Amino acid sequence: MNALVNVIQQHHEEMPMRIMTCRQLGGPCDLRLSGETAEDVIKAQDRHLREAVGGGDPAHEPAHEEMKGRWRHPARSMGWYRKTKKAFADLPEA
Ligand SMILES: [Zn+2]
Repeated sequence: MNALVNVIQQHHEEMPMRIMTCRQLGGPCDLRLSGETAEDVIKAQDRHLREAVGGGDPAHEPAHEEMKGRWRHPARSMGWYRKTKKAFADLPEA
């Protein structure tokens, strides 16, 4: 049982982190967002956009609106989502 837990933990530690920039995700800056999955970096970007716009940065507003639109219209956003997932999978491991 302990051995199994060890295997799972080791496996988790070996999950590669990958990095995408705000710009690669449709934003205006080069902030680096890291995650183990495309969903992680998309969520990190969503948070970053909200914080930037909340902090009064107009440069991030268009990307923020697009991101909000994606949550509202997930079916229409599948193309972007798939493209982002593919770009993420093609990244070298960080
Ligand atoms: Zn940004």
